[in-house]
Amino acid sequence: MASIFSKIIAGEIPSYKVAETDDFLAFLDINPNAKGHTLCIPKKEVDKIFDLDEATYTELMKFSRKVAIAIEKAVPCKRVGMTVIGLEVPHVHVHLIPLNTMEDARFTSKASLKSDDFEAIAKRISSYL
Ligand code: 5GP
Repeated sequence: MASIFSKIIAGEIPSYKVAETDDFLAFLDINPNAKGHTLCIPKKEVDKIFDLDEATYTELMKFSRKVAIAIEKAVPCKRVGMTVIGLEVPHVHVHLIPLNTMEDARFTSKASLKSDDFEAIAKRISSYL
């Protein structure tokens, strides 16, 4: 069965897109740790990051770096943190999280954003790409 992220890639589930190439997609996490929390995924559906072929892994990191640099310009924060977990969605994704405190990295306290906030922040990050 297609992962929820493959359904986002196919446009069957809506998302707030930040960046897209032929092989990768960046979109806002729907339950963000902080405003601007973004997920970068390969369009190729693979569960675990270290099972990716080396070229896709390297390209995913390059893509994530570009998006992280744009997030840092778009969102006031001390730095952008990068985390890979994958316990919830079995489709490789890199979390890029604007960090101000260690709490932002803990996946315990969540930011509450409205649809307008998601749209505005996705657009703002895209504008720095
Ligand atoms: P992980 O698999 O790394 O533990 O977490 C999966 C992440 O995907 C979570 O932060 C969760 O909020 C996010 N997520 C799960 N389902 C959706 C969805 O349908 N849309 C978006 N944009 N994010 C999702």
